[in-house]
This record gives sequence, C-alpha cells and structure tokens, in this order.
Amino acid sequence: QNGSIRSRCRPNILVTGTPGTGKTTTSSALAEATHLRHLNVGDLVREKNLHDGWDPELESYLINEDLVCDELEDLMEEGGNIVDYHGCDFFPERWFDRVVVLQTDNTVLYDRLSRRGYTGSKLSNNIECEIFQVLLQEARESYPEDIVMALKSDTIEDITRNVTSLTDWARSWHPAS
Ligand code: ADP
Ligand code: MN
Repeated sequence: QNGSIRSRCRPNILVTGTPGTGKTTTSSALAEATHLRHLNVGDLVREKNLHDGWDPELESYLINEDLVCDELEDLMEEGGNIVDYHGCDFFPERWFDRVVVLQTDNTVLYDRLSRRGYTGSKLSNNIECEIFQVLLQEARESYPEDIVMALKSDTIEDITRNVTSLTDWARSWHPAS
C-alpha cells in the first residue's frame, strides 16, 4: 500500500495539553457526540504496561513511546480516533487530521491540579508547562500548522463550545482527494 495515501474514511483527532486542561473530559464528550473512539493514552499505558517503570521523582510512569505507537498503529490507520495525551511529539505526523491543544488560565489550572492531589514540584512543573505553552510549541513543531489549533478550556461553556465546533468539523471531514 502506498504510504502517502490516507485510506482512513474517518478522521483522527489528537487532543493534547497540560494535565488538567480538560483533555479527558473534552475527548469523552466529543466521542459521545461523534461516535469516534476515545483512546486515553495514559490509561492504555497503565493497562497494557506500555512503560519502563515508575519514576518516583516525576511521580508518573516512564512511557515507552515505541510500545505505545505499536499498540495504536492499526487503530490509527483505520481512522475514527480521538487520542488523549499530554504529549504529542512521538506520534507519527501522518496519524492526525487535527491537533487540538487545550489551554487553561494558570490560576484555574492550579486549583484543578491541587484538587487532583498534585503538590510540590509535580504541581509547579505542570503550571510552568502551561505558562510556557510547552504543548502548543511541541504541537507546532510536530505537525503542519494548518491542523494545529489552540482552544481555551477554562469553563464548562468552553468545553461545550469546543465539542460543538469539533463535532461539526468531524462531521464534514472527508479524506483528502
Ligand atoms: P486532563 O485529562 O487534561 O488531565 P480532565 O478532563 O481530567 O483533564 O479535567 C481535570 C479536572 O478539571 C476535572 O475535574 C474536570 O471536570 C475539570 N475540568 C476540565 N476542563 C474543564 C473546563 N473547561 N471547565 C471546567 N472544569 C474543567
Ligand atoms: Mn486525562
């Protein structure tokens, strides 16, 4: 098969952003509205052991990017996926038709992450990640600029609006000729 021709008939969307910006909430609402498949990469890493162990300093699993990509390849080729992860530079560029970077006001994010139990350097690292727009930069360096979009995710209204516009986009998407 010619690798340059996209055979999928439904789009793949990447939803990325700093932890706490609403990726999982947005992705599951979008999956419900579009019947696309929600792939929560963090959950998959834990369930299928796609990691190289627990990093006590980072307080998270060390994701094995090759194992994750191998695990997702067939589904991504099939199309119709919403991939939810706080990183984006190790996925193949050809996988995605749209890359959404969620962004949250850092005082709002601070409260969300504190409520989630984040403290100390885990909390401050994530707030810094948001302030310096690390995920937006990573997305812009990894994907064509016309498919990358930053969306504000401060309030429930933002989620509703984002899900509505992404649903409209997904419904009108068709394979490039
Ligand atoms: P992520 O998957 O990016 O880590 P979640 O979707 O798990 O983020 O959201 C983290 C918490 O913040 C949840 O309690 C969720 O309800 C809340 N939240 C996320 N986005 C918003 C938003 N736009 N408005 C209000 N609450 C939000
Ligand atoms: Mn999540």
